[in-house]
Amino acid sequence: MKIAKVEAHILDYPLEEAFESASMHFTRRQHCLIEITCEDGTVGWGECLGPAQANAAVVAIYAKSLIGMDPREHEKLWLDLYNRLRDQGQRGLTMTALSGIDIALWDIKGKYYSASISELMGGRFRERVHAYATGSFRREGVDRIRSVATEVAGYAAEGFYGVKIKIGFNVDEDIRVIAAAREAIGPQCRLMIDANHGYDLLEAIEVGKRASIYGVDWFEEPVLPEQISTYRAVREGQPLPVASGENWHGRYAMLEPLASRAVDICQPDICGVGGFTEMRRVVDLAALHGVRVVPHVWGTAVCIAASLQVMAALPPNPPRREPIEPILEFDRTDNPFRQAIVSRPLEHTNGWVEIPNGPGLGIEIDRNALTHFALRGI
Ligand SMILES: [Mg+2]
Repeated sequence: MKIAKVEAHILDYPLEEAFESASMHFTRRQHCLIEITCEDGTVGWGECLGPAQANAAVVAIYAKSLIGMDPREHEKLWLDLYNRLRDQGQRGLTMTALSGIDIALWDIKGKYYSASISELMGGRFRERVHAYATGSFRREGVDRIRSVATEVAGYAAEGFYGVKIKIGFNVDEDIRVIAAAREAIGPQCRLMIDANHGYDLLEAIEVGKRASIYGVDWFEEPVLPEQISTYRAVREGQPLPVASGENWHGRYAMLEPLASRAVDICQPDICGVGGFTEMRRVVDLAALHGVRVVPHVWGTAVCIAASLQVMAALPPNPPRREPIEPILEFDRTDNPFRQAIVSRPLEHTNGWVEIPNGPGLGIEIDRNALTHFALRGI
């Protein structure tokens, strides 16, 4: 089995209404999918986290060394690609691009062996996962407190495990948003807050202290991802569990936060951490240090399917009669191609999402949708 072609597909959709987190302003949805075709016609799909065009450029560099190689040897290929850009790479786009390639290689491997990726990883601990809804981004000219309350009340009514709201803009207003969200979802639905590294240390400590009366499960990315010692200080200075990891790509980036207990919850993204090959190492590393893993998910159905395969195979930690079950991040913001690109959407029913059990990722790509949402001329 040999790789014949490696392509990047950039999907693009101009948003009717822009939205923003503390660190990013979104006017378009853009995601980069990877398609790897083998000489025998087998096709594997992957996805890269982050800026689509930049990812596609790095994938083009990697692609040259993949042609003619055996896609089932993902461990050897991963190491070869990582080494090629190691000296100036290590983190960021070199890893997000590598992630998309690795996911596609595992998809091919699954198709070759007629097994889902979770089966190849050692077996499925579960067939479905409870999802939590991510939304509540800030929009210009909209009353943030009222709109977040309305939005999250809808998610709670849909049966989601919980809701994650965006903060990191302004401490006083953020606290009012958290209070309004808790009131809107009632006492049972879980509540998580995500600052997208919008605060400095003192603000993060203040927010954590003031938010704790609203029953918050975790405080995500309170401060800049480069500042590991600041994470430790946030953790020590306020009562909420601290979560992070979507911007720590690869095991080397994860090592210090995990080993030094900078976070309570680790959030690797399969499309950024280095694909399945590296995700397994990070999951083991987190388990070694007693840190809970809740994967970060922000992408199309390819990213969701890959995350579901990882979650199916996540060993219960600790193993017990009623284990702690992983929860799936379910992005509810505007993105018409998120599910349109697969023939069977990965939707939720009362907040639960079934994990596909077909070969590889267990999805089928709709090429008409790929063409429809392909980036044109910018
Ligand atoms: Mg986040």
